[in-house]
Amino acid sequence: MKITNVKTILTAPDGIRLVVVKVETSEPGLYGLGCATFTQRPLAVATAVDEYLKPFLIGKDPSNIEDIFQTSFVSSYWRNGPVLNNALSGVDIALWDIMGKRAGMPVYQLLGGKCREAVPLYAHAGGSDFQEVEENIRRYMAQGYRYVRSQVAIPGYATYGAAGGGTPAFEPTPYVNTVIKLFAHLRERLGDEVELLHDVHERIPPIQAINLAKALEPYHLFFLEDPFAPEDVDYFQLMRQQTSTPIAMGELFNNPNEYVHLIKDRLIDFIRVHISQIGGISPARKLAAFCEFFGVRTAWHGPGDVSPVGHAANVALDLACYNFGIQEQHVFGEKTKAVFPGCPEIRDGCYWATEAPGLGMDLDEALAARFPFPEHPLNGGWAPVRRRDGTVIRP
Ligand SMILES: [Mg+2]
Repeated sequence: MKITNVKTILTAPDGIRLVVVKVETSEPGLYGLGCATFTQRPLAVATAVDEYLKPFLIGKDPSNIEDIFQTSFVSSYWRNGPVLNNALSGVDIALWDIMGKRAGMPVYQLLGGKCREAVPLYAHAGGSDFQEVEENIRRYMAQGYRYVRSQVAIPGYATYGAAGGGTPAFEPTPYVNTVIKLFAHLRERLGDEVELLHDVHERIPPIQAINLAKALEPYHLFFLEDPFAPEDVDYFQLMRQQTSTPIAMGELFNNPNEYVHLIKDRLIDFIRVHISQIGGISPARKLAAFCEFFGVRTAWHGPGDVSPVGHAANVALDLACYNFGIQEQHVFGEKTKAVFPGCPEIRDGCYWATEAPGLGMDLDEALAARFPFPEHPLNGGWAPVRRRDGTVIRP
């Protein structure tokens, strides 16, 4: 069997720019799908796949997943980075999909089989004030969710993860002060039966992040996410000596090697991995296995700019990895579900895998073509976030 074609499919059924790779084979009707969604630079990924990986891969045996990953990884000589890794991911996930279809097994079975029946999710609760966040959490709890990320608007300022506030400027100090009060409010009102999470989104100076993690300790978060920018990771040593608030990190890392010292030195508790940013299922499963030996758990990044194919890959890993921690949920829109038949189902606060062979996911190309990328002043780029004095922050 040989790879006969590799192509990208660009679509935005619910307004989010998605990139999916389709790998076709010499066996009639046998193909695989992979997520290559880098929503801020999708056209660059499409070029990397269509102009470089396609000619490199045609004629190769799709069974040799590891060899194809390793050879593709070095075929640009210079490697890494989100564009090339997303291109690799699109191919890698598609090859696992093909392998599963050939075996007549879901991908999670190829990875070792189920460690759990379904995948517990965390939902996103935002609010313009503490009361609204609390009400949104209660609504999720009533639906069966046991983990909720909680973000609140900052009076007079912008913030991440909650609408409201005031000016488009972000300021670290009012943010930190408000978040501490939010969690005091939530624990007092909600008690201990719900696990609470929070995403700093790397927006504050490192020493303020350490202060925040210490101040939140009495409210026992499930995790505090991205307290530092990737450039500031050496601060984790200092944070670890100061507080036992659990830490999740890594959605902006590209090379799996970026996680290694944080894991082996036991400086974080959860890996936040955007599966397509690190190159697909092959590097992700190795990283998860490495984490197991250090008591670090998985929390694969699951926003709307992971395609449904990427979410299905996350679910396969969630089911098969012993050291699963939690999965971020995305609720797929109706148009997205129509373009991608077989999206993981959400029930009782969990994702439930499609039991079909491979990733159990398909793509209606004719329908996908009816949802081109929307017009956007930055062509989909991330708009800068600034402080009151105009300084741009990360991110
Ligand atoms: Mg995040």
